[in-house]
Amino acid sequence: MILSIVGYGDPVLRKVGEDITEDYPNLDELIANMYDTMYSASGVGLAAPQVGLPIRLFVVDCAPFADIEDNTPEEKEFLSQYKRTFINAKIIKEEGEEWAFNEGCLSIPDVHELVMRKEQITIEYYDENFTKYTETIKGLAARVIQHEYDHIEGILFTDKLSSLKKKLIAKRLKNIMEGKVFTDYKMKFATKKGR
Ligand code: ZN
Repeated sequence: MILSIVGYGDPVLRKVGEDITEDYPNLDELIANMYDTMYSASGVGLAAPQVGLPIRLFVVDCAPFADIEDNTPEEKEFLSQYKRTFINAKIIKEEGEEWAFNEGCLSIPDVHELVMRKEQITIEYYDENFTKYTETIKGLAARVIQHEYDHIEGILFTDKLSSLKKKLIAKRLKNIMEGKVFTDYKMKFATKKGR
């Protein structure tokens, strides 16, 4: 089932997510719905707060990034298969040089800006079967995870922009808060009724 994606300005996007347990109600269905919702919006990641739930859960599928021109054949292969469900994730290390990538967010439609992040992360998490993993990931997959991980910490990519950039996008963010934005996927907005 495709869920509505919460727009910028909704307080749920600012909450630090809570850990969940294996008996979280309808967890399998929620995860399946999050993948459906992400794919239907052509996203590469989606975090639970974006569907209104302040919990430590996000899904990632980097396949759409496999065909970016600069990728080596190894990166292409890796990204084409990099699909993961992250539960109760904890980034334990971020290292390497900071690099810029043009990020967007399904909760912040039509805003795309360069964001600096470190190139490699080590993350502990549980998958959808509550099996625990520790993974070290770099490049675009790390980038997607860092963006989604920020969501479960109540952080948005626009927080990371310079104060000048923030001023330049302020009007667009206000429009999103008021629901004055067009998307080809279902959204719900903080200041607009009709949930
Ligand atoms: Zn996002």
